[in-house]
Amino acid sequence: MPLTNQMRTSDQRPADKNMALPQAPSVSAADENRRRSRWIKRAKNILLDLVFPPSCASCKKEGAYLCGQCRNALRMIPPSCFVCGRLTPLRGRVPAGATCKTCRKKTVIRRFLSPFLYEASTAEALVRSLKYHRILALAPGMAQEMATYLAYYTPRLPRDACFVPIPLHPRRERTRGFNQAELLSAGVGVLLNIPIMPILARTRNTAPQAPRTKDERRTNLEHAFSAPSQKNAPRLAILIDDVKTTGATLEEAARALTSAGVKTIWAVTFAH
Ligand SMILES: [Zn+2]
Ligand SMILES: [Zn+2]
Repeated sequence: MPLTNQMRTSDQRPADKNMALPQAPSVSAADENRRRSRWIKRAKNILLDLVFPPSCASCKKEGAYLCGQCRNALRMIPPSCFVCGRLTPLRGRVPAGATCKTCRKKTVIRRFLSPFLYEASTAEALVRSLKYHRILALAPGMAQEMATYLAYYTPRLPRDACFVPIPLHPRRERTRGFNQAELLSAGVGVLLNIPIMPILARTRNTAPQAPRTKDERRTNLEHAFSAPSQKNAPRLAILIDDVKTTGATLEEAARALTSAGVKTIWAVTFAH
């Protein structure tokens, strides 16, 4: 059971990137401070976990980060077109989640796979708890759901596929302490044995997306991402994010990947 309180056994905070690398000979004072504050944040969360038992992200019942009842309420839905949302049933040679012919003019994303509906659902509660309440213990279970869905609808993933998490602007990542898309990518990557290629960078710290209209979002995100031109660009890059709302973020990211030489781009999110 991927989303039960079993996940409490270990702290799911992302590994400190600096720790995985060989120790640099000189670390600036700013880096040192950042590292220290990350550790303090981490220690504080561990203490909070000890003092306050976990409660369900959706119904707040104590005992687990997602109670059995809410876990059962999570219903996977069949894949739909990235642009118009029309269901794309397995028919003939059209793969599930393929962007329909008429919508192909509007996006460079060729397939979209996202197991859950977002609005007013347990899925929304999970996404928000992970991102805003920093319940990182939810990430492995969410990644498990994404992996199950992806493996079901695409049993034979091309061997040269890679996952590309939607990056946060470094400033926002510092404030939040982690990037939820990276956590999910890491989980799905391990489960499906697909490499992660974090080739996208966020070049502008865009204003928060939530209150904007579709058009405003698009303008807001223009040139928000960049990717260095890839000598051996992956043939298939699968963008990973926690949620698709208007799709503007994924679209901009996909366009940056196209400019970097990636031929085919899919998108996978936990909810939409
Ligand atoms: Zn619950
Ligand atoms: Zn469509």
